[in-house]
Amino acid sequence: MKECNEALNLALQSLPKMTLEQLDKTVPLSASQAPAAERWEPTVKHIDYDVVIVGGGLVGATLACALKDSGLQVALLEAKPQSEAVARGQAYHINLLSSRIFDGLDVWQHMRSGVSPIAQIQLSDADHTPIVQLVPQDLGTEVLGYVAEHRVLLEALRNAQSECANVTYLCPAALVKTIADAEGVTLEVLQAGATKTLRTRLLVAADGSRSSLRQQAGIRTRGWQYWQACVVAFIQPEKPHANIAYERFHPDGPFAILPLPNNLCRIVWTAPKAEAEAIMALDDEAFLTALKQRYGDQMGVLSLVGERYVFPVQLMQSDRYVLPRLALIGDAAHCCHPVGGQGVNLGIRDAAALAQILQTAHQQGKDIGDRRVLKSYERWRKLENLMILGFTDTLNRVFSNNVLPLVVVRRMGLWILRTVQPAKRLALQLMTGLVGRAPVVANIARNRV
Ligand SMILES: Cc1cc2nc3c(=O)[nH]c(=O)nc-3n(C[C@H](O)[C@H](O)[C@H](O)COP(=O)(O)OP(=O)(O)OC[C@H]3O[C@@H](n4cnc5c(N)ncnc54)[C@H](O)[C@@H]3O)c2cc1C
Repeated sequence: MKECNEALNLALQSLPKMTLEQLDKTVPLSASQAPAAERWEPTVKHIDYDVVIVGGGLVGATLACALKDSGLQVALLEAKPQSEAVARGQAYHINLLSSRIFDGLDVWQHMRSGVSPIAQIQLSDADHTPIVQLVPQDLGTEVLGYVAEHRVLLEALRNAQSECANVTYLCPAALVKTIADAEGVTLEVLQAGATKTLRTRLLVAADGSRSSLRQQAGIRTRGWQYWQACVVAFIQPEKPHANIAYERFHPDGPFAILPLPNNLCRIVWTAPKAEAEAIMALDDEAFLTALKQRYGDQMGVLSLVGERYVFPVQLMQSDRYVLPRLALIGDAAHCCHPVGGQGVNLGIRDAAALAQILQTAHQQGKDIGDRRVLKSYERWRKLENLMILGFTDTLNRVFSNNVLPLVVVRRMGLWILRTVQPAKRLALQLMTGLVGRAPVVANIARNRV
């Protein structure tokens, strides 16, 4: 009770009223900074929901679907209108574990036609000819992973979630205020110009890397902004991409090509920030010329499809994933370098793990917002995520430079990957998510995906 008051009750209370645009840019506001007139004393005591998930991105939506048979009443809040949330021009590497989680949740069948399998991965050092070729036989699987657009994944999750009788989707709905007590959290939500008060036993922050819930709760993060930024674009090559994914390591940052359906490719071009800005400033023709130099000639003429975007890149790990009545998942809890395409996969795994823990606790008659229940989620996921954060950071540091000892180390590393089968297998297990504790829902699908 005392901990609850100190940690969440005080730290989460009295968010100022915000527009939806402002909501994404909130800065921390401590209880002592809240103007007295804004203080809010909710009187509602009955519980509307067992779980309220704030953030309907891929991770929040996965958690909502994963709680479908839990016996818990769930609300999912998304601040952006549905069309906007779905239309994000992003595409992801979906690793084998994530595909198994989706399959275990019965959503994979609805994603499958919009997803491209990865039949081969080619790793190379830009200035060094030998290429490491990774194929499914190295792992004993049929494919090495998948690539899909954000829209395809989120639409399938939304459709599945709309069929879950225990999940209420509030969109667009902005969280305005929260206050916690020993039994639950009371939320004030702004929807269609009207405010409504909801009460829940557990609040889940799936509100992205700038999570206002994490900040309001006073949870500290560790990490750094990289010196690099990522330029992303969709490309249509003249020749078939043959479902090959490329990761080429250049001294200024990795360059990835991911195969998508309809012979589209996703380019993730990491470069020092100033260079990334310069790449963005090129007109389309000059961009395609620069791209061709980096891409090579093997796929013929390249055409640009849609807009280019640039993203900052950071490594971030939250000191805590949980407080009494609060859990963080996905980018709200951690962010990693995009090399290897791990980010959203960690979040999908968080969502499946948290759902499993909540469902078990509920079946055992425990309070799902209790710190001890939530701590078991933190113990499960925090260390595993840290391992991948470390893996992607090391990859980026070892490959993104020209320091001679590191050049020797990386060439040795690539040589080992080319010639030592167990090393190849271990690297693939890390990339495909097949290291660490798998949520039960993924095991259900183990033999299918
Ligand atoms: C350049 C780049 C390339 C990447 N490539 C890959 C890749 O290949 N593979 C991969 O696995 N990952 C990749 N990632 C990482 C991936 O994009 C993120 O890990 C992932 O999008 C995180 O999902 P999320 O649901 O946790 O957060 P988000 O996608 O940020 O979703 C958060 C949601 O919460 C909503 N929200 C925020 N605040 C509130 C509020 N107060 N109330 C209600 N709703 C709210 C937002 O509107 C949003 O919809 C990449 C990232 C970058 C930058």
